[in-house]
Amino acid sequence: MDCLFCKIIKGEIPSNKVYEDEKVYAFHDISPAAPVHVLIIPKDHIPSANALTEENAPVVGHIFHVVAKLANELGIAEGGYRVVNNCGEDGGQTVQHLHFHLLGGRSLNWPPG
Ligand code: AMP
Ligand code: ZN
Repeated sequence: MDCLFCKIIKGEIPSNKVYEDEKVYAFHDISPAAPVHVLIIPKDHIPSANALTEENAPVVGHIFHVVAKLANELGIAEGGYRVVNNCGEDGGQTVQHLHFHLLGGRSLNWPPG
């Protein structure tokens, strides 16, 4: 399948890995928007949040468990952070494989643009 993040999971495209287990892969964003900017993705190809179902949605809970662990390890748990999922064109999704941005290390603006 011609999917950038599936290729990253398979090691066909290099990435700066932060964490991996049997269900998820996490790596530094190539164009960081904050001092900490990690992407956490399911190993199964799920195109977007729109494709979540009763069957595949449990991985999202697991991803948030990984978020809590990584936030602690990366030193942003105490200061705070933001988890973002961009879905579809209006949401600004540019890679069609479900991913969650973990952003921290600076004060983040709200609302987003
Ligand atoms: P989104 O706009 O929510 O679809 O986010 C896609 C993210 O993937 C962006 O923040 C990009 O900077 C990031 N990205 C694109 N290509 C790569 C890559 N090869 N390695 C790491 N991050 C990437
Ligand atoms: Zn994929």
